[in-house]
Amino acid sequence: MAIKILSDELVALIAAGEVIERPYSVVKELVENALDAGAKNITVELKKGGIKSIKVVDDGHGIAADELDLAFQRFATSKFSEGSAVGDVETLGFRGEALPSIASVGDVEMVTRAADTEHGTRYVVTYGEFQTKEPCGAPFGTSVTVNDIFHKTPARFKFLSSAAYESGRIQRLVHALATINTAVGFKLVLDDKLRFSSLGQGDQMAVLARIYTSKITDSLLAVDETIEGIAIKGTISAPNVRRSNRVGIILGLNGRLIQDRLLMVAIKQAYRGYLDERTFPIATLCVSVPTNSVDVNVHPAKSEVRFADKDRMFSAVQNAVRRTLIEKAGVPEFKRFSTQPATDTASAPTQTPNYKQTAPASQSPASDWTPGWPAPDTPIATDNAENAQNLPSNFTHREILPLMQFVGQIQKTYLVADTLGGMYLIDQHAAHERVTFDAIVGTLKTAGRLEIQPLLAPETVELPADIISFLDEHRAKLEKFGFQLEQFGENTILIRSVPALLVERGTRDITELITNILTSIAEGKSGEQWQRDIIATIACHSSIRAGHTMGADESHKLLQQLAETEQPQTCPHGRPTVIHISNRLIEREFERS
Ligand code: ADP
Ligand code: MG
Repeated sequence: MAIKILSDELVALIAAGEVIERPYSVVKELVENALDAGAKNITVELKKGGIKSIKVVDDGHGIAADELDLAFQRFATSKFSEGSAVGDVETLGFRGEALPSIASVGDVEMVTRAADTEHGTRYVVTYGEFQTKEPCGAPFGTSVTVNDIFHKTPARFKFLSSAAYESGRIQRLVHALATINTAVGFKLVLDDKLRFSSLGQGDQMAVLARIYTSKITDSLLAVDETIEGIAIKGTISAPNVRRSNRVGIILGLNGRLIQDRLLMVAIKQAYRGYLDERTFPIATLCVSVPTNSVDVNVHPAKSEVRFADKDRMFSAVQNAVRRTLIEKAGVPEFKRFSTQPATDTASAPTQTPNYKQTAPASQSPASDWTPGWPAPDTPIATDNAENAQNLPSNFTHREILPLMQFVGQIQKTYLVADTLGGMYLIDQHAAHERVTFDAIVGTLKTAGRLEIQPLLAPETVELPADIISFLDEHRAKLEKFGFQLEQFGENTILIRSVPALLVERGTRDITELITNILTSIAEGKSGEQWQRDIIATIACHSSIRAGHTMGADESHKLLQQLAETEQPQTCPHGRPTVIHISNRLIEREFERS
């Protein structure tokens, strides 16, 4: 078979496959062009999720009539001129592929009018074939309509999902674009109904308030950090907001919406100890770096980027989020779910007649109470407003908990403490776990290892052979934590020593502990995660349990130690250690105010 060079149309179609996968990609490319054109207002209109038609209208600088043909040619771009370094382009990408690609897969009409021109131009291309170019009346700016996408490429058409799915994705895209580009007003119209709009007033919280419920927006914490020249701005949710997936995480890089696994992981890791492994926060972060330290054109759809210095980027984002959490995510506070006056609670049980018999104890009238973190602008430990005002803006963790006066213990599980600002309930096990965790981390940092307690009579543990097989490789690391373990037959290991800490606290279930540790190694977690797991496990097993009667001295000491930890409001697994019941709330409930 003779080798032939592909025709231009075919090349365009193949390239389009990379850039334009579905209506979503059309919207993304057209909106990016509009943003590059300096638009202040952008409207996206869809019919049937974009499958029938997509229209993007902007009020940007438009395209001059004599440049229109060029705009629809491959690799034609106005965003890069010879001589400028590739890395210095500050627009949303310049591959010059979007318009020709879109034109090759749909019935496309562009109406555009450049600033200072008398009239606009209408330009029509259908499935890669030029149709018309004619003058017409038009407002300044550009509108692009794409009808019947993929009609000439049935194979691709088949891959489209339902209109509901396609519009759902585009709706999230427009939300994300609006939160990253807060100075631009966005409108989204689905089948002639206005579904979303933002005002373009530069206020990210205002945009988020149009996307999320007030319960979520009330929990948002502002991030504003510059770390080693990397500026990170935006909002993150307090730990009481938990999502089962990452869709609430929106990342912008120099104004561009990106999807970057690395930075997702950085954000996720910053929430360690606040959220467990399977839950995700809501976060909208705009990262700004010098344009020459990132390559945005590596990916055809330009959603992935390449950083010059990955590690620095990772730790900057992680630290920014972490610092914000430590400084601003206070103690979860008991809040009322509904805004009804307190007297209404009395009627709640009558609405559910079987309430008393059926409701589990933990939900008694408390079903309309919910622990929540305080609103973002509530100063932490607000108890003492004067104190709070005297704090430097980057006050350290020690102010997270106020001075607590131990009052008593309830259910042999919780401590009750009095403070200027109200009452605190402390989960004694969770609190002690946090204290022990920090102590172990401290010892490892200073001494490099934990103190070992040899067992007089070594204990044996039976484990599946595949888990035991990890022992050899990790023996040295385990010793650092105080565990001397030896294989003893195919399914058995011998425990020769354990961390001294465990013995002091009289841990009984060493077997369970070793099983947990080896299992987490076998699950192939990363080194750091794995070590944290071990520390958390040791902390858990060597901490005061629920059911233990706490004396005043012991309780007092625990409260003091807790206040000195880095992250006193959660245990190492991310559960709350402390719940705050404010004076305000108590007064309201007793109808004193
Ligand atoms: P790229 O954005 O990579 O340059 P495109 O194919 O998306 O390539 O667009 C080609 C050119 O058409 C752009 O460089 C720009 O000059 C012009 N253009 C496209 N869309 C618009 C718009 N909405 N407003 C003004 N100019 C536009
Ligand atoms: Mg473009």
